Amino acid sequence: MIELKRVSKSYQNCALPAVANLSLQVNRGEFVFLVGPSGAGKSTLIKLVFREQTPSSGQITFEGRDLSKLKQKELLRHRRRIGMVFQDYRLLKQKTVYENVAFALEVIGRPVKEIRRKVPAALAEVGLTGKEKAFPAELSGGEQQRVGIARAIVKDPLIILADEPTGNLDRNNALQLMELFETINRSGTTVIIATHAWDLVDRMKKRVVAMENGSLIRDEQRGSYGNEHLST
Ligand code: ADP
Repeated sequence: MIELKRVSKSYQNCALPAVANLSLQVNRGEFVFLVGPSGAGKSTLIKLVFREQTPSSGQITFEGRDLSKLKQKELLRHRRRIGMVFQDYRLLKQKTVYENVAFALEVIGRPVKEIRRKVPAALAEVGLTGKEKAFPAELSGGEQQRVGIARAIVKDPLIILADEPTGNLDRNNALQLMELFETINRSGTTVIIATHAWDLVDRMKKRVVAMENGSLIRDEQRGSYGNEHLST
């Protein structure tokens, strides 16, 4: 579903490219951990797939479409098919749990009837039934990230892209969240998670794509984190 062909991305005023000549294919239904030290290019790769950034060279296709060729309408459609999850949750503080998740559908113009049906279902899936009226500040970090995941899955995305989703959580919460991602993946949604949580990566035995200095240095099915964590 995603194919990167010799993709490079250089930021202005940066001597070295953030992503360097990287080729990678991810198929529908896969669960992929993206690992590597800080600065390896993991976030940039995620931003390239979301088309928040564009490559300096090379080509990225998503479901057979060249991302560099999307017109404005197609770009919105592309982004609707992706559920983003962030390290810092990025919830709206003035909105309740229910409203935060509903908002993801409101902004893409979904009908009220659908919102009333889908929001409770998404909250149930992440184990937050009963917390609908709470505000983010009243929730634990783990619960806030569950809201972030509910907001991502409520759109029925083809893929979840998560950038350090457990970075602010203790190990127990992190493990539970990884298991939640696994459950979501089992129902058919492709999942890509950039993470430093090497102990969880080792435990989950999923595909591991390791990056260093913008390059892909390892790609293993049922992989482990490897030694990269020693340099983080
Ligand atoms: P990771 O997610 O693996 O920590 P990043 O993709 O965030 O790596 O960063 C890769 C490299 O690109 C780093 O050297 C970083 O400083 C640089 N970089 C990332 N974002 C920007 C930006 N918006 N402007 C300039 N340089 C950036």
